[in-house]
Amino acid sequence: MAIHIVEEANRCLTCKQPQCKLKGCPVHTPIPDVIKLFRERKIEEAGQLLFDNNPMSLICSHVCNHSSQCEGNCVLGRKGSPVHFSSIESYVSDTFLDRVEFEKPTPNGKRVAVIGSGPAGLTVAITCARAGCEVTVFEQKQEIGGVLEYGIPDFRLPKQVVRRYRQVLTDLGVRVRPSTTIGGALLIDDLFLDGYDCVFIGTGAWRAKTLGIQGQARGNVYFGIDYLVDPRSCDIGRDVAIIGVGNVAMDVARTVLRNGARHATLYSNWGGVSASSDEVELAELDGAQIEYGLSIDLINEKGPVFRRSILGEDGSFVGITDEHVQVECDTVIICVSQVPKDKLAFTTRGLATSEKGTLIVSEAGETTVAGVFAAGDVVTGPKTVVHAVDGAKRAAAGMLHYMGLE
Ligand SMILES: Cc1cc2nc3c(=O)[nH]c(=O)nc-3n(C[C@H](O)[C@H](O)[C@H](O)COP(=O)(O)OP(=O)(O)OC[C@H]3O[C@@H](n4cnc5c(N)ncnc54)[C@H](O)[C@@H]3O)c2cc1C
Ligand code: SF4
Repeated sequence: MAIHIVEEANRCLTCKQPQCKLKGCPVHTPIPDVIKLFRERKIEEAGQLLFDNNPMSLICSHVCNHSSQCEGNCVLGRKGSPVHFSSIESYVSDTFLDRVEFEKPTPNGKRVAVIGSGPAGLTVAITCARAGCEVTVFEQKQEIGGVLEYGIPDFRLPKQVVRRYRQVLTDLGVRVRPSTTIGGALLIDDLFLDGYDCVFIGTGAWRAKTLGIQGQARGNVYFGIDYLVDPRSCDIGRDVAIIGVGNVAMDVARTVLRNGARHATLYSNWGGVSASSDEVELAELDGAQIEYGLSIDLINEKGPVFRRSILGEDGSFVGITDEHVQVECDTVIICVSQVPKDKLAFTTRGLATSEKGTLIVSEAGETTVAGVFAAGDVVTGPKTVVHAVDGAKRAAAGMLHYMGLE
């Protein structure tokens, strides 16, 4: 049954110390203020408040882990049901984007290059454009959105929601150059040569972590992050084994079951899962099964071969036994996390990375190259949309300060 958003808003106590905002939300969404405006039917003002705080508010209303964030910290949830703010946020942000007419800001003479159009890049592009900068977004793929477009499945985040941001960029005068990889034909040095005052890197984490085992290069083996880009292009058969039990693995399981597979089994090498409980429940509801305590050893012509794990009393991984378990399947999909690609680090002198390949930045989001800022997964490693927005807001403020605008 759909949540009745007016009833939900009326239940809110508009707390003086709102834990939903202060503790629950990484970008401190002003939830009680938004709800007050909503109750007064000031929908556009409520939407403006949300957008000013988080330009990705509409996306977050769809994909944030609300039950551990705003809704998980709502005081009403202690003894009953929390206020379902995500449904209110979705309605308000959707209506706001329908009605808003962004005015072209007065140009301030500064030019900004944004590399990557995921939530981090979009947040920086929108923030800098609203401050009057001339912004160009360079995106290696055809469409904007990053993981929102090419990772999160359509049944969780419809593509038309992501594509609404095209209009926002157009209204704000932001130019987008699709199918353009910086670190390929064009380098960061070329951007400065062409007169950009500041560069933002929001290139995410798109290199699949490998397992270092035999069989990963077989024709029926994929990495989850690559598979999700275009599931219909992969011939997966009926039985799919998924190595890994994080959120990406759950998305892969739910996607294969919608694309012809009859059985999707996820394998955990310990006694639990790393995905959020909501995602696990939905994957199981869709028919996915989870097997615990099996450590991948190799992949042969029949499918994955595991060794049974030794587990501690609490289910933690302690070691592996000599007992082998052969699983037969049509396709294996490996989902054991991602790291950033290293194109920009290789082609930009002085751009320092951590051992994990993430970019090193200051508090203000500046990398080790003057005038080059970064945020999102390329800095934190794989995290969430709202964390990418949080870092991008800080980086955008740092960029405006660097250009003498704040
Ligand atoms: C399958 C999956 C499901 C997820 N589900 C959720 C969820 O439900 N909720 C949630 O909060 N988070 C989720 N996440 C995590 C979340 O999507 C990411 O944390 C977030 O998208 C990171 O944003 P970003 O802008 O840093 O990078 P990305 O979204 O990865 O965007 C980076 C962009 O940069 C482009 N790019 C890369 N290199 C270059 C280059 N050299 N030149 C030009 N362009 C380049 C890429 O094409 C891409 O468009 C999920 C992640 C995955 C993989
Ligand atoms: S904690 Fe719950 S009741 Fe209090 S302001 Fe937030 S949503 Fe409303």
